[in-house]
Amino acid sequence: MRIFEKLAEYRYEQVVFCHDKSTGLRAIIAIHNTTLGPALGGCRMYPYASEDEAVTDALRLARGMTYKAAASGLNLGGGKSVIVGDPRKDKSEVLFRSFGRYIETLGGRYITAEDVGTSIEDMENIRLETSHVVGVDVTHGGSGDPSPFTALGVKQGMLACAEEAFGAPSLEGRTVAVQGLGHVGHHLCELLQAEGARLIVTDLNPALVEEAAREFGAKPVEPDEILSIPCDVLAPCALGAVINDESLPKLRCSIVAGSANNLLAESHHGEALYERGILYAPDYVTNAGGLINVADELEGYNRQRATKRVMRIQDSVRRIIAISKRDGVPTNVAADTLALERTGAISSMVRLHTGHPYSMPQRRRATV
Ligand code: NAD
Repeated sequence: MRIFEKLAEYRYEQVVFCHDKSTGLRAIIAIHNTTLGPALGGCRMYPYASEDEAVTDALRLARGMTYKAAASGLNLGGGKSVIVGDPRKDKSEVLFRSFGRYIETLGGRYITAEDVGTSIEDMENIRLETSHVVGVDVTHGGSGDPSPFTALGVKQGMLACAEEAFGAPSLEGRTVAVQGLGHVGHHLCELLQAEGARLIVTDLNPALVEEAAREFGAKPVEPDEILSIPCDVLAPCALGAVINDESLPKLRCSIVAGSANNLLAESHHGEALYERGILYAPDYVTNAGGLINVADELEGYNRQRATKRVMRIQDSVRRIIAISKRDGVPTNVAADTLALERTGAISSMVRLHTGHPYSMPQRRRATV
């Protein structure tokens, strides 16, 4: 891999390769952009088949975090790290402590968190070596389960879409079809019921479907029916890539807003939704509630403040819809525009010197 060419393509700031023979640590920290603040992004542990694969993943994920933080109104940059290894057998206290020492050397330019393959226990081990870690145990100022906050953000995103599509930011009497009743889906159903929405639900696990039917009066459907069910809002909260060539012609909804990452199989599927008049709440903004919540730990976690910040996802989605209308582009493109406009505006702000470099006290010449 030609790494510098890759870094130049999307203007990455820094990539750090971490190696510790004694602990077996092989990790990569990718920092994409720190215009808005320190780069925050999770640490993924995965048995990558090759070094190229690990670098590519770290770079791709880091860049995604720049956009996510910027469009969600966070004062954070984008970064991500990967540890090469099998999370089921290669974890140890020393491995994560060793990784923590590498994070510490960056002096706060990168802040890590949980991701696929890592846990609160791992963050606790990292915390023994650096303070630049969030998603730690609640006894150490951690913010706990992110899912209720992710669900809240999804609901706020839906409200912004409802305002545009139906003329009012309300889901009262609207039908929402929820795919996936796991951590986020269940909390989302609870919030939607409180908003007066009618629910249609599905999951591969029948016990979760029964629970939702009982608790929220939701109507159960089979997993293969949910994408083509007539509804006002489709909320994919299970897997990515559900909006694809196959599902697109079957959709019978006015809005797509869910928590799943990478909802669009390809970015041109955003264009296809736009052409069909289906309003899409971009995934990385709509599902940013968990990130906004965990980032609050940096200021000393405050649940009320975090909740308030997550509620602002409604404004972010509103702004994205406005850009979509202004530029005549799909909302997935408008979300990227919002992120780029914000980072661009801040990086081009006037730089004001507060002192003259030559007004520093002159050093006396040594006499010989
Ligand atoms: P989860 O694993 O708790 O729940 C996912 C649920 O989807 C499971 O109950 C599973 O049985 C169900 N499911 C899987 N395939 C399905 C299918 N084909 N049809 C119907 N149901 C299916 O995960 P989660 O934490 O609730 O997250 C849901 C999605 O949101 C994931 O894509 C995740 O990456 C994304 N996300 C979650 C968070 C968070 O805070 N948990 C934050 C951002 C993004």
